[in-house]
Amino acid sequence: MKSRLMFAHLPTPVEQLPNLSKALGINLIIKRDDQTGLAMGGNKTRKLEYLLAEAQANGANMLITAGAVQSNHCRQTAAAAAKFGMACMLVLMGDAPADAEGNFLLDQLMGAHVVYTTSAQRDETLKRVFDEAWKAGLRPYLIPYGGSNATGALGYVHAMQELQAQNCAPDWIVFASSSGGTQAGLVVGARLTGYTGKILGISVDEPLDVLCPRVAALASQTADGMGYTWHFSADEISANADYCKAGYGVMTPHEKAAIQLFAQTEAILLDPVYTARAAAGLIDLAKQGMFRRDDVVLFWHTGGTPALFAAPYRQQMAQAA
Ligand SMILES: *Cc1c(COP(=O)(O)O)cnc(C)c1O
Repeated sequence: MKSRLMFAHLPTPVEQLPNLSKALGINLIIKRDDQTGLAMGGNKTRKLEYLLAEAQANGANMLITAGAVQSNHCRQTAAAAAKFGMACMLVLMGDAPADAEGNFLLDQLMGAHVVYTTSAQRDETLKRVFDEAWKAGLRPYLIPYGGSNATGALGYVHAMQELQAQNCAPDWIVFASSSGGTQAGLVVGARLTGYTGKILGISVDEPLDVLCPRVAALASQTADGMGYTWHFSADEISANADYCKAGYGVMTPHEKAAIQLFAQTEAILLDPVYTARAAAGLIDLAKQGMFRRDDVVLFWHTGGTPALFAAPYRQQMAQAA
């Protein structure tokens, strides 16, 4: 088993949601991975515990990764770099924003350097930045998009063991799924712990024929890295892509309503891109009668709240419903 640096605030709490349960007519609880520590936390913090251990073992003194301008993954990577005395270079897809706000403000505050690229040129730009750093005498360590490789996914294998140690065995685990590391780790962790409930990823941006094979391949690689010869196939991965049609980062009235409902019934703050989309899916599935009355449904909060304070989301949230 790969080693891990321990800087996340773990275990994250599992809490009851009585008001929201009543509003939705289901039995809903929440796992608070928005509370993992590390500069406002989120699911990337668990992945970074393993990725930073690997970076240190490789003698790295710089972290490089990529993401959107409001990337939670980039902000948590910048935080980890600051904490462990490393330089940080973020390759952000998009134009330089007019204002420093939300996650991007925090990137700057924690001393990250930024270069801009397009999504088509992302990998090329990463390689160039990596080569330039190496030539300049630095020892860069490349963290993949979303921290989702067989090392990062170990964070969510561990998270499943943590949930079991909390004596929590819900019938459903529902969460936002995108680059796949979270879901892959949960799926491997489920096999390891004997968890038999459903692990339902709500796709944030990809159709099922992209997301499910991605998660399955990453789960197989993650298990392999742990010394298990387990194979996961795409049809073993459960996901729902009905709620991502508006596209990545586009907040629709459904996400906005989910943010308001969670805030007003339970004082839980969702983010506009990931957790609000997953919550909007959960709310709709509850209305459709997908969950039985005695099912325990766990919503796994994966963080991201700083993006609420960035344009265009903050203006959209401030408008009347
Ligand atoms: C990155 C992210 C996700 C998606 O996790 P993956 O491991 O990329 O699938 C979900 N929620 C938030 C808040 C994130 O930042």
